Formats: sequence, C-alpha cells, structure tokens
Amino acid sequence: MIFILVLATSVYAIDQLRRLNAITRSVLETDNRILDYEAKLADTLLEEIRYERKFLITHDDTLYDQFLLFKNDFEQYLEEANFIADSRVTPLLKMVKEYHQSYQDLFNKELQYVRADQSYPEAQYKQDKAKAQDGIMAELEKVRVYGQQSTYNKVKRLDETGAKARQVTILVTAMALIFIVAVSLLMTRSITHPIAVLKNKTREIARGNFGGDLNLSSPPEIAELAGAFNLMCQKLRDLDKMKSDFFSSMSHELRTPLASIKEGTGLLLEGLGGPITEKQQKLLTILAEESSRLIDLVNSLLDLSKMEAGMMTYHFDRASLAPLIQKAMTEIGPLVEAKRINLQAEIEELPPLKLDGERMLQALRNLIGNAVKFTPERGRIIVSARHSNGGVEVAVTDTGPGIPTENLANIFDKYQQGSRVDSYRTKGTGLGLAIVKHIITSHGGRVWAESKAGDGSTFTFVLSA
Ligand code: ADP
Repeated sequence: MIFILVLATSVYAIDQLRRLNAITRSVLETDNRILDYEAKLADTLLEEIRYERKFLITHDDTLYDQFLLFKNDFEQYLEEANFIADSRVTPLLKMVKEYHQSYQDLFNKELQYVRADQSYPEAQYKQDKAKAQDGIMAELEKVRVYGQQSTYNKVKRLDETGAKARQVTILVTAMALIFIVAVSLLMTRSITHPIAVLKNKTREIARGNFGGDLNLSSPPEIAELAGAFNLMCQKLRDLDKMKSDFFSSMSHELRTPLASIKEGTGLLLEGLGGPITEKQQKLLTILAEESSRLIDLVNSLLDLSKMEAGMMTYHFDRASLAPLIQKAMTEIGPLVEAKRINLQAEIEELPPLKLDGERMLQALRNLIGNAVKFTPERGRIIVSARHSNGGVEVAVTDTGPGIPTENLANIFDKYQQGSRVDSYRTKGTGLGLAIVKHIITSHGGRVWAESKAGDGSTFTFVLSA
C-alpha cells in the first residue's frame, strides 16, 4: 500500500510537471512569438507607409523598392505568424491580410496614376489607405491584447497547477504518513498483545496455576508458542496430580505400619502380651524409641518433600505469635525438666501477623527442640520475641556447643547435620532447619543463625506485618 501511494504520488507529480512544461512551452513558443510577430508586423507596416509616402512625394524608384522590400517582409511575417497562430488569432491575422491587401490594391492603383502622370482623387485615396492601415493596426492591437491575455492566463494556470500539485503532494504524503503510523501501530499491537498474554500466562505458571488454555491464533509464531504453552501446562497439570497422588499414598503407606509397630511395642512394654523379662524390656524400649524416631523422620521427610514440590498448602490467618511460642515451650517442658535446663521466655506485646498457625508452630518446635537437644544439662535457653520494623523478631538463644563458623552458611540445607561427632549426632534427621527455612520464607520472612563454636547459638527469624 505504501509503495502504491508513493508510486501514485510520483506519477501524479511527473504528470503535473509535464503540464507545467507544456504551459511554459506554449507561452514561450506561441504567445511570445505571436507578440514578437505582432511587433514586427506593426514596425514593418510603419516602414511600408513611410516609404510609400516618401515615394508618392518624390517619385523616387529606390524608395518604391524599399517599400516593396517591407511589403514582402510584412507578408512573410504574416505567413509565419499564421503558421504558429491558434484558432483565436488566425481570424485576426486573416483580417490583417485582407486590410493589407486592400491597402496594396489602393496603392497599386495610385501607382498607375502616378506612372501615367494622371491626376486622381489623392485625398480620397489617402483617406481609404488610412482606413486600411488603421484596420491593420486595430487587428494587430487585438492580436497583441490576445497574446498578453493568453500569457497572463497561462501564467495564472501555471500558478494554480503548481499550487494544486503542492497540495495534492502534501495531502498524499500526510495520508501516507498517517497510514504508515497506523499500520505500524496495528502491527506492533498484533505482536505485543499476544506477548503480554503469554507474559501473564508465564506469571500464572510461576505461581503454580496451570489451568486455562491460551487461545492465540496469530501471528503464526506466537500461535505455535501458545500451543507449546498449552501442552506444557497440560504436562504440568499431570505432573501435579502425580505428585499429590504420590504424597497421599506415601503418607498412608509409611505412616500406618510405623504407627502399628509403635503402638504394638507400647502395648508389649505395658505387659499386655504377658510378663516380659528385663532383657526383653530393654529391647522393646529400643524398638519403641527407634520407631518414634522413624515416624518423626517420615513426617519430616514428607513435609519437606511437599514443601519443595510446592504442594504444601498454607492457611493464613491474622494471629499473634506469642501463644504459639508458649505452646511450643510447654510441649517441650518434660524434656527441659529432665535435662534441668533453665528455659526463659522474653515476650513483648506482639502485633497480629498473617500466618499459618500450624506451620509456624512446627517451625518454633524445631528451633526450640534443637536448642533443648543441643544444650547440655543445666544449660540455659532464652526465647525472645519483640517488635522489629513493624514486624516481629523471634530469637532462640542457647548455651549449647555452638556451630562452627564454616557450617553456619549451609546449616539450613537439608541433611546438613554439622560436623560434631557426639551423642546428638545420630539423633537428628538433618531436615528440621530446612523445614524451618521453608516455612519462614513462605511467610515472607527471613531466618538465620549466629554462633561461635563452644559459645552457644542464636537462631533468629523475622516476619513482617
Ligand atoms: P537435626 O537437628 O535433626 O540434625 P536440623 O536441620 O534441625 O537437623 O539441624 C541441622 C544441624 O544444625 C544439626 O545437626 C546441628 O549440627 C546444627 N544445629 C541445629 N541447631 C543447633 C543448636 N541449637 N546448637 C548447635 N547446633 C545446632
């Protein structure tokens, strides 16, 4: 379309130029020359008259010859002018010719009288010749006026044609520009709109929302991409289903037999299967402890796997952290007492936060549980909670063995159990802190550990309001 517009404008401009050229040429080749001939004819006539009069006075033949020369010139100019004259000038020139002929006829008759030396009505002839000469001059005047008028009209036309050509060119150029801008905008939109749709869909996928198919039909490349997106979403949906099926069946398949073993061992220990020997009691106690540990491990493992797969669902409510901290401390009370640990709480009045109480309790259990687990008998643990930049900061400080600086960075990675080789080493799973980190970051918070080996450790997390 743009090419056609440019081509049409060019053709139009060339046509207008050709017209301008034709008008200019007609001015130069016709009007100008007609005016030229008109001037020449008028001059030649005057010369003719001059010599004719002189001859009639002097009867000198050389003057007559001069007259004839100018007469011939006049006739030739008239013929030439006729050749280039247009239909409006031709009749005027015809009149000039007729008047000139009558002037010649009158003079020729006069000449015969002169040559025969006869008298003739001189005054009458003079008057008739003057009439013919005036007739010629009047016709020539008409030719001149017509020539000037025609030139003027053509110059006016030149002006008008030029102005029109300019207007049309400006109009077409403006139209072409508007067209180009409109087409560019349309083309840009036809690409940016589907890309925006794809961008939003990508965001949705990143948020874990795989539902709803994209329906983009053009441009073809984007349509192909949308098809691939839909296929990917379908695969992700299938995968999601497989993951949730796996977690529910694994929870069931692992937890149920373990719970039965623990329960059965407990019953045996209680003497429900009949009296047991001291040796049997020792073995059953080990069995009970190990099955508890195994249940903890399976629970932690399933929780962490769910979190990592993005399948853990959080139920956020506005609640205060204080009662959760109290609950976690109360739950661990028996172990604290057994180790005669001094467990203190320093809890300020806290603002309610958006949190999942169950998960937050799990994180607090893990942190306080670790502190109790790693603090030796008669040690001290402080659990503090205070305002921090509009949110809440919770810290669990213990007087345990601390964590070597080189381990601080990866302590929150799963299966990281520190480098200490002591009795606690085997009791953990290496999953507790990884779960804590998942829970805290899912609440938009941050968790970190500070410690010096041999000087206790502090685990802190902050949550914003
Ligand atoms: P687990 O305690 O089951 O081994 P965690 O993820 O809870 O797994 O902890 C990882 C490791 O971090 C622990 O093995 C221990 O080395 C170190 N750790 C965690 N809490 C403490 C603490 N309060 N004092 C000293 N070391 C700790």
